[in-house]
Amino acid sequence: MRFTVLASGSGGNVCSIESADFGLLIDAGLGPRQIAARLQEVGRSWSSVQVVLLTHTHTDHWKDATLQHLHRHRIPLWCHSGHHTVLRTYSDGFLALEAAGLVRSFAPFEAFPLSPGLRCRALPIRHDSGATFGFRLEGGADLFGGCNAIGYVADLGCWDDELADRLADVDLLAVEFNHDVALERNSKRGPRLIQRVLGDEGHLSNVQAVDLVRAVLCRSTKGRLRHLVQLHLSRECNRPALARAAAREMFDELRVAVAIHTAKQDEPGAPIHLNGSARPRVAARSPRRRGSRALPTQPSLPGLID
Ligand SMILES: [Zn+2]
Ligand SMILES: [Zn+2]
Repeated sequence: MRFTVLASGSGGNVCSIESADFGLLIDAGLGPRQIAARLQEVGRSWSSVQVVLLTHTHTDHWKDATLQHLHRHRIPLWCHSGHHTVLRTYSDGFLALEAAGLVRSFAPFEAFPLSPGLRCRALPIRHDSGATFGFRLEGGADLFGGCNAIGYVADLGCWDDELADRLADVDLLAVEFNHDVALERNSKRGPRLIQRVLGDEGHLSNVQAVDLVRAVLCRSTKGRLRHLVQLHLSRECNRPALARAAAREMFDELRVAVAIHTAKQDEPGAPIHLNGSARPRVAARSPRRRGSRALPTQPSLPGLID
């Protein structure tokens, strides 16, 4: 499986996941030409997108022009029935998708197959957009019965034990690190917006996100989580360095080696490859021969610390 953030933040959200010869987008919060340009930057195109999954109906997560593009290219949209009213009201593209039988509905917690080799489960999360979901995707089963798993949660004001349980034992966890509480409180934003962001139906702070990741790690097989992707950073009320430092401190404290990827709004992130068995890997410790060329490696691998 391959995970790529194409854009993340209040200016538009799109992520790409590929498994074998199947590709999907989580959210479609940029226009179709912008998505095409971002896909091209990571060596892909719209022709590698077979399905789009929608988290919720805030307009940084979908664009009507993109839903119209899905209709023209007969790409199905998976969403929740709670999204229909808003989309029917504001999107001709959605109406066209519905008329063409291209709208698929997921139910909370129910596993649904996106392709023969890729399953998804929608995880309800609290956010002030009505029905809002994270996802757990599993696919790429290998000869030993293992598979890769990805957890994705953005746009949530709080989290609970059930969500942490549902995200346990993933190889890649993508979580919103929206704001730093002090920067949010001291921002020039109006008090209502600040309260909205900080509230249980707003967005996760760096501290809340770190606590969620820690709770997921405590429920996971040691060494399973290899990548943390930090999503939806506020330009105004967060800094990539603060988000990264918060996660790094927690990983160091728990003595786990997890690569941290901080998503950007204006350019795609480097594609993250999840290969092979999902079982915890033991890092090879063979001594490097003098003069041999170092093989390219991930930034960090489980098993190298403790
Ligand atoms: Zn958003
Ligand atoms: Zn939102």
